[in-house]
Amino acid sequence: MVKEKKVRHLLGISGGKDSAALAIYMRDKEPDMEYFFADTGAELPETLAFVDLMEDYLGKEITRLNAGRDFDYYLKLNGNFLPTARSRWCTTNLKLKPFEEFVGNNPVISYVAIRADEAYREGYVSTKSNISAVYPFKEDGLNKDDIVKILDESGLGMPKYYDWRSRSGCYFCFYQRKVEWMGLHDNHPELFEKARQFELYHKNKGRNHTWSENESLDEMLMRKDEIKAQALIKEQNTLKKPKKLMDSLLDDDSDDGCMICFK
Ligand code: SF4
Repeated sequence: MVKEKKVRHLLGISGGKDSAALAIYMRDKEPDMEYFFADTGAELPETLAFVDLMEDYLGKEITRLNAGRDFDYYLKLNGNFLPTARSRWCTTNLKLKPFEEFVGNNPVISYVAIRADEAYREGYVSTKSNISAVYPFKEDGLNKDDIVKILDESGLGMPKYYDWRSRSGCYFCFYQRKVEWMGLHDNHPELFEKARQFELYHKNKGRNHTWSENESLDEMLMRKDEIKAQALIKEQNTLKKPKKLMDSLLDDDSDDGCMICFK
């Protein structure tokens, strides 16, 4: 008789608030849960610290994927061409493939941290037939306020980078807003400098690569005050909008970003 393969329960920690809240929410509901974190090697220090905290809180190992194959490794493999929103080899190599390797061939239930107030999102849907996704927040009607409450009540609170940036992900992520680049400059000047050096490397090779659309980091720095002032005006205008619209505008996950990176 063929022995049935054991079903694995997997939950990916991104370093963001939603996946953290889902891990807390599911901790006592699914005792066999396995946690993983696809470390790109270019994570913010705040993200790494938060994942360590999560591990202590959960009382279980969070498996770090990508050992020895970080961003720099794949950058070389890609001929030093930096990823962009149109050529997002970073997500494929540093998030999706390691996840599918980690999954293997056993049947897997993947727990996805999409909230009830973002019903239009699906998250990463694998093409592997042994993976099926479940959405506990959507199924149980939990929205953003509930997620913040779960994190507050756990004592973990929000990851620290939320003071200046709206998402987890690589320090140079091309999905971040210009004001967030300025936040990187203020909070981690050494990482900003590394990102700047990537741009300069391309420039010296006669290529025009900018992380942010149509503007280099040097150009952004020259108008730092203006970028911050514009972001403040935008935020104030957003606060004046009616509640429903405000929620969607303030929704820090609402941009067309890297789903598997940010949840
Ligand atoms: S966080 Fe941004 S840069 Fe990093 S893997 Fe995701 S899309 Fe790519």
